[in-house]
Amino acid sequence: MTVEYGKVYLVGSGPGDPELLTLKARRLIDNANVIIYDQLPGKRILETMPENAEKIDAGKFAGDHRLTQSEINQVLIKKAKEGNAVIRLKGGDPYMFGRGGEEAEDLVREGIEFEIVPGITSAIAAPAYAGIPVTHRDHASMVTFITGHEDPTKEESALDWETLAKFNGTIVIFMGVKMLERNTSELIKFGKDPATPVALVERGTRPDQRVTIGTLENIAVAAEQRNVKAPAITIIGDVVKLHDILGSQT
Ligand code: SAH
Repeated sequence: MTVEYGKVYLVGSGPGDPELLTLKARRLIDNANVIIYDQLPGKRILETMPENAEKIDAGKFAGDHRLTQSEINQVLIKKAKEGNAVIRLKGGDPYMFGRGGEEAEDLVREGIEFEIVPGITSAIAAPAYAGIPVTHRDHASMVTFITGHEDPTKEESALDWETLAKFNGTIVIFMGVKMLERNTSELIKFGKDPATPVALVERGTRPDQRVTIGTLENIAVAAEQRNVKAPAITIIGDVVKLHDILGSQT
């Protein structure tokens, strides 16, 4: 007996403004049997999921625990094996700090067809909506994307702060709110100018987007005072100065 497996689409939702969804993402969501999602795409996109699709919140407590990454992968595999068109909806771009690569690897291992649908990453869109181009001929010819969420008890950091401190371009940090104090101190310790401009963009591209501006030296204190919360993108570098000119005047 041959089994007809379904297919999994790893779909990027973009940063939250529903108009930044791709046409392909929109079409696939509208025609899905099963959608496995978390909260990162944001309310305005999640409320457009079709009523008749089975919707599974991977971030919610399932029974008495949160779905782990491996459980999420198991659900994807199970639903696909039942013959469904399964959407794994992820915030921003699935392959940008979204563990999309790991999910895709598991699908390949199980012989399940999958398709990647890139999304607009928050790393570019959130600064853009805040009036900060991540590159600019006068300010930054390079940009790097890093995770700020490394466990401080981890013995060896995958992040080379010494090299990053010397990097003469824009540094964009994902998941950087909790470790902001540690990360900015590391950069200063290895010689980055404490006066380097820094921006935090919370809930970028959403109606309640909020921008906090400071320097490497004082941004952690500012973030605490203003109770900055995830999801937020941190942008470090001279391009942040453009916020004054290109940012919304409201
Ligand atoms: N794949 C996603 C990133 C997932 S990691 C992407 O490409 O955007 C989760 C982190 O992304 C958050 O902690 C935050 O740093 C960032 N992020 C996602 N959406 C955001 C938004 N709308 N505004 C600001 N930061 C966001």
